[in-house]
Amino acid sequence: MQETRVDIAIIGGGIIGAACAWWLTRRGLKVAVVDARQPAAGTSGACDGYVSISSKKPGVVMALAARSKRLYPEVVADLARDVEYRTAGGLLLVEDPATLPELEARAAGVRDFGFDMRFLDRAAMLAREPRLSPALHGAFHCPAEAIVNPYLMTIGMVERAIERGAVALWDAPVTGFERDGDRLRAVETAKCRVVAEQFVLAGGVWSGEVAARLGLEIPIVPRRGELVVTARAPGLARHYLMSATYIVAKANPEAAESSDDPLMRLGHGFCLEPNALGQYILGSTRSFAGFDRRVTAEGIRAIVTEAVRRLPALAKVPVLRTFAGLRPYMPDKKPVIGRSARVPNLIVATGHEGDGICLSVVTGELVADLVQARAPAVAIDELTPDRFGAALASAA
Ligand SMILES: Cc1cc2nc3c(=O)[nH]c(=O)nc-3n(C[C@H](O)[C@H](O)[C@H](O)COP(=O)(O)OP(=O)(O)OC[C@H]3O[C@@H](n4cnc5c(N)ncnc54)[C@H](O)[C@@H]3O)c2cc1C
Repeated sequence: MQETRVDIAIIGGGIIGAACAWWLTRRGLKVAVVDARQPAAGTSGACDGYVSISSKKPGVVMALAARSKRLYPEVVADLARDVEYRTAGGLLLVEDPATLPELEARAAGVRDFGFDMRFLDRAAMLAREPRLSPALHGAFHCPAEAIVNPYLMTIGMVERAIERGAVALWDAPVTGFERDGDRLRAVETAKCRVVAEQFVLAGGVWSGEVAARLGLEIPIVPRRGELVVTARAPGLARHYLMSATYIVAKANPEAAESSDDPLMRLGHGFCLEPNALGQYILGSTRSFAGFDRRVTAEGIRAIVTEAVRRLPALAKVPVLRTFAGLRPYMPDKKPVIGRSARVPNLIVATGHEGDGICLSVVTGELVADLVQARAPAVAIDELTPDRFGAALASAA
């Protein structure tokens, strides 16, 4: 079998693996990216692209988003292709005035990270987005929120890493590992054997399965999200729009199970992304359906109905297509970014749920810091891959 020798082997060519490759090659390291299929063939090619802080869970995830948002323009500027990144601003819609105190507390948390986020009453909201329903109570405006095309961002970072010498191995599923005591010596793929000093596992929803082969437990669960793409209808909305129910659905999978509300049971939360083509990506649902990526009639019905309720002008806009992706969900609702104590030359970077497009850039920086034993820009001890119980009994 052919052999490739590099400093770092990255398993996974989604947006997280791509960002790791971008950072590591920028710091002069020799990298190989290995993917069972193609770059962005997984969740990073089946999602939308909100680069947002206002939608993040307060705590370490919000801190990561703040850092990522500051880094994003620098990474985008380095890429050879246009990735449709733009600071469109975000509106978090308020439907029930009773939710205002909670949302104001969230806005204060966002402001603590240096990003403006303020309440607009109905008139001020309609001045910004005149097509929104006047039945809405108002909205929180976060001007720094951005949108990127996640597929192009992934490809763009991979291409730049390749220009800087990275080896790309596509259609190369990992078939096994070679160990040297508790360390890894090589990853075996369907195409060749990659010998490396250090390894990064960025396998998205498939990370648990790969980790298990190393005797590690990463209890990642696919959390399906359905989306609807409309035909072009430029000018109906300029901001990324999101309802407060989106944040509730994201943070409370338990509530979905016990709720009598059909929308809550679907994990529905309204969001709308105006993309660079003048189409709208409408979302979304959250459900645990294994690795099933099919869309459902009830999911699509809820997405379309709830979108039209908030932006009535959408009713006349044709629907072009629907699709679903699998968010890499961790039961403790925090990504996994850290070095494994059990396999000391393995770094795990996964479990970003609905935040991986935004958090990709900071994750790549943190992985590069771990590789080079530099102090991280954000404290990530609580994200360690060692937080999940004991090692599995049967190490590969
Ligand atoms: C509907 C939806 C909407 C979303 N919207 C947003 C948003 O607006 N903003 C945001 O920040 N995030 C969003 N997300 C979340 C985001 O898409 C994910 O967090 C992110 O794409 C995960 O990237 P990843 O690189 O970890 O995984 P992936 O993109 O899935 O990449 C993992 C890669 O690993 C490869 N792989 C797996 N197993 C192996 C193996 N054994 N051998 C070799 N290769 C392997 C796969 O082929 C795949 O290419 C959304 C997700 C969904 C589903």
